[in-house]
Amino acid sequence: MNLILLGPPGAGKGTQAKRLEQRHGIAQISTGDMLRAEVKAGTEIGQQAKAVMESGQLVSDELIIAMLESRIQQPDAARGFILDGFPRTVPQAEALDVMLDRAGMRIDVVIELKVDDAALVDRIAGRFTCGKCGAGYHDSFQKPHVAGTCDVCGNHEFIRRADDRRETVAARLEAYHTQTAPILPHYRAGGRLVTLDGMADVDGVSQEIEAVLARVSAKISR
Ligand code: ADP
Ligand code: ADP
Ligand code: ZN
Repeated sequence: MNLILLGPPGAGKGTQAKRLEQRHGIAQISTGDMLRAEVKAGTEIGQQAKAVMESGQLVSDELIIAMLESRIQQPDAARGFILDGFPRTVPQAEALDVMLDRAGMRIDVVIELKVDDAALVDRIAGRFTCGKCGAGYHDSFQKPHVAGTCDVCGNHEFIRRADDRRETVAARLEAYHTQTAPILPHYRAGGRLVTLDGMADVDGVSQEIEAVLARVSAKISR
């Protein structure tokens, strides 16, 4: 099964994609994670993207589309994938249709997580991840069981993203509302869009997503 998780920054896409990856063995493809890896490695792509990301703007469609196209050709994507953070503009959505068509693949369902802007600011400002395994946490909503220790790998170092500052969040929400939300009608018209209440807690959202996937896979196998 191939799906898109759509929603504003902080909506819970990464958190839910990681759970789906574990539960269903489908690959999480996060363009944000891919870009951060390029920045860390100091590649040419990373050098182009760094300042744009830190300002809360979107990286160019050309760069993102090329990066995504080579990623979905990796062997693990053949077992199914979750797009997390892509597409984010109308040209990206159109390019995705073309590249999937060419590869004989399709998107089975697009899940939109709806969350109020005020809640997004709190989620983003409190977000941190394990520096070793990448597990995601939050200062108030998803604390490690033992303070200062990763639940998954036991590591003690955590990372906060350079763009997860309250000052940058407004620019990122603006980018979502003006550049990303316009892709929703494209998927609604295709009958593939399901909108869920992303304000529920992490387990509640997971349950909603599992119910959608059960419905979609029943339809596919019919
Ligand atoms: P996205 O990938 O959409 O930007 P994340 O999955 O990184 O969002 O979640 C943003 C922050 O909010 C993280 O710190 C995460 O722990 C927390 N979070 C995720 N889902 C929920 C939820 N349903 N309720 C409260 N906090 C959440
Ligand atoms: P979040 O879900 O919290 O918004 P991401 O990790 O998905 O964050 O993205 C972080 C940043 O990386 C974005 O603000 C943007 O600069 C860049 N980025 C990620 N994916 C895309 C994309 N599909 N198109 C353009 N820029 C992107
Ligand atoms: Zn860890």
